[in-house]
Amino acid sequence: MLPEASLAPHLVTLYERQRESWQDFAEVCKGLADVRQRHLVFYGAFVEIQYNPRRLENITASTASPSNSPDKCFLCAENIPAAQISLPLSPGAGEFLLLCNIRPIFPYHFTIVHRAHIPQRLGAHFSAFLGIARGIAPDFWLFFNGAQSGASLPHHLHWQALPSRYLPLSRAHFIPCGNFAGVEIALLEDEARQALSLVSADAEALARAWGVLVEATNKRVLLCVPEDGLFNIFATFAAGYYRLIIFPRARMRPSCYYADEPERMIISPGSVEMAGCIVTARQSDFDRLNAAHIEQIYRDVSITKAEMNDLLKSLTGRC
Ligand SMILES: [Zn+2]
Repeated sequence: MLPEASLAPHLVTLYERQRESWQDFAEVCKGLADVRQRHLVFYGAFVEIQYNPRRLENITASTASPSNSPDKCFLCAENIPAAQISLPLSPGAGEFLLLCNIRPIFPYHFTIVHRAHIPQRLGAHFSAFLGIARGIAPDFWLFFNGAQSGASLPHHLHWQALPSRYLPLSRAHFIPCGNFAGVEIALLEDEARQALSLVSADAEALARAWGVLVEATNKRVLLCVPEDGLFNIFATFAAGYYRLIIFPRARMRPSCYYADEPERMIISPGSVEMAGCIVTARQSDFDRLNAAHIEQIYRDVSITKAEMNDLLKSLTGRC
């Protein structure tokens, strides 16, 4: 089992080993060199746009899929290719396995998979989430796509990790706006995306703050949305402090996803998109996406500023 501390070197070693020992993965890694990217300025920060046709299946995955069967789940151990290595992680008591992501958005993209075929919810696994985030920090950030917020496999609990240098969010500006029982709260300076930063040295204090946010969200949204299904969450750790960046979501997909051709754009934001890297799988979408489109996409899937203020009140009102 991989140790508790300093997991990052093991991630790099696993990636290099798989590139040498697994032909399909080597081809995928080679293909990453051909992924096209461009960037534009959005609210004073860069947003990157990526053309990555391999991601089409992830982008168009149906969350209402009836295939909630381990037989068809490619995160279940029995369906993992023989050449794919899975390494148990200490945080989470070995319940989570580290794998290279076979459809990477960037080099060194990993999937952290629960051993069991259980639904995509943080729930009881929140402390493991923080523990693994701490282990891979600061070079890698861990993230969670809620079941209705970009998860392409909502039937099998999984997280992902990426080098933080690829995420424009790691350089975004947040405005301090209060605290909740040992947790410093700040808001992303952005009119279209609503995001909270929660910082604390105390993992239990963060778990309590997270619980308040989930409770407040469940009062607002329809009961058919699973608990914590409408969130994207990043986690990292530095200088003794955990940091969560939380995007409370209003819906899974933006209006452009459902538009008729030629207006349609096949874009389905998950954590990576909310963090400022928009992945497109069609060249036409890659070529025409502009700042106004991105603003509308973010507004479509994010909660409103008023709803964010209500969420903040649910935290700071309890201090
Ligand atoms: Zn599964």
